[in-house]
Amino acid sequence: MANIINGIAHAGIIREEVKARIEHMAPVSPMQLAVILVGDSSASQSYNNMNKTACEEVGIGFALHCLPESTGQGQVLALIDSLNNTPEVAGILVQLPLPLHLDRLRVVSAINIRKDVDCLHPYNIGLAVSGLGRLLPCTPAGILTLLKREVICLKGKNAVIVGRSDIVGKPLSFLLQAEDATVTVCHRHTENLPEVCRRADVLAVAVGTPKFITAGMVKPGAVIIDVGSNFVDGKLCGDVDFENCLDVASHITPVPGGVGPMTVAALLENCIKAWDLQHE
Ligand code: NAP
Repeated sequence: MANIINGIAHAGIIREEVKARIEHMAPVSPMQLAVILVGDSSASQSYNNMNKTACEEVGIGFALHCLPESTGQGQVLALIDSLNNTPEVAGILVQLPLPLHLDRLRVVSAINIRKDVDCLHPYNIGLAVSGLGRLLPCTPAGILTLLKREVICLKGKNAVIVGRSDIVGKPLSFLLQAEDATVTVCHRHTENLPEVCRRADVLAVAVGTPKFITAGMVKPGAVIIDVGSNFVDGKLCGDVDFENCLDVASHITPVPGGVGPMTVAALLENCIKAWDLQHE
């Protein structure tokens, strides 16, 4: 029976550490996270609610800038410019995906690199690729923290990542390579996916399809990291057939309660790091 990794407990410890650090800074923390949401996405809104609660709990202000779907590029860039120049804004998070009429590259490239708390700016992605990043993308950073806190050895291990999104799969591959894992990134065109997955000592899944990974795709003793966040019959579930994989894996993250809370914790940590970068 696999060890169920408790992301809520690990994230709780990190949140306490961030809270203590902020309490230490000043009688009243001036620090704020600014989130830009263009258009109406219920998935983004529930993520924002979680982030708002977490920020307020640790003493970071949370400002949500909701813009209508029809907002033009110039208005989005003007808002980012104003937040870049607001000293109390420690971090800026642009919720992706953006409506199609907006140029994602231009928008994320407008974020001050020292306020880029989800590592969206190409400069910060470049630093992350080269192993020099200080602001790492929240979900991959949270996963890496989880693996380290569970004392899971990555050196020389086969890590297979299913999904190559810019926010999860690709950056996670950089971070795991930096830990000396041998990394394979899979996608829709990967041949013999079950066989590739069965080679994984660490199997990370970010596909967006419930129960995509079945027990037969898992090597006995593998560590499974389920990033998926899907709603089925009103219930949150991951990309892994959790119940059946429990008997095969050595460790597994549940959904909810695995990677999600670690993403939020990584965002809080990034706010502090961004603040430090702006004040060094
Ligand atoms: P995404 O942009 O939705 O892309 C999905 C990826 O999965 C793509 O690379 C796609 O391949 C691959 N894929 C889809 N079907 C596949 C198949 N049949 N075989 C092999 N590969 C397949 O990915 P994402 O934004 O990373 O999101 C993935 C999931 O993670 C979603 O459920 C999302 O809600 C969740 N998520 C959770 C967190 C968290 O903090 N817990 C954070 C971010 C995302 P192609 O590139 O070939 O199309």
